[in-house]
Amino acid sequence: MRIRCPKCDWEPDGGAYWQCHCGHMWNTFDTAARCPSCGFQHETTQCPPHVGGCEKFSPHLDWYEGLDEAVESINKEVVSVKK
Ligand SMILES: [Zn+2]
Ligand SMILES: [Zn+2]
Repeated sequence: MRIRCPKCDWEPDGGAYWQCHCGHMWNTFDTAARCPSCGFQHETTQCPPHVGGCEKFSPHLDWYEGLDEAVESINKEVVSVKK
C-alpha cells in the first residue's frame, strides 16, 4: 500500500519527522500514528515542511492510498472464511 500526503502527494521516506506532545520523535507510519513513548493515538498527521512537505494536517488514515479497497478485500476474506 502506498503512503503519501493526501494534499500534496509527498511520500514519507522512513524518517522520524513527527513529534508527540510528550516530546518523543518517531516515524508515525511505523505505528499507525500511535506514539511509542506515551501511547497516545494521533488522529491527524502533519506533512513535514522541512523535508519537502506542504505543512498541512490530514487525518492519518487519509495518508494510506487505497485503504478503502484494502478494507473491502479483508472483509471479503472474512466472509469467505465464514462460509
Ligand atoms: Zn507521546
Ligand atoms: Zn503535503
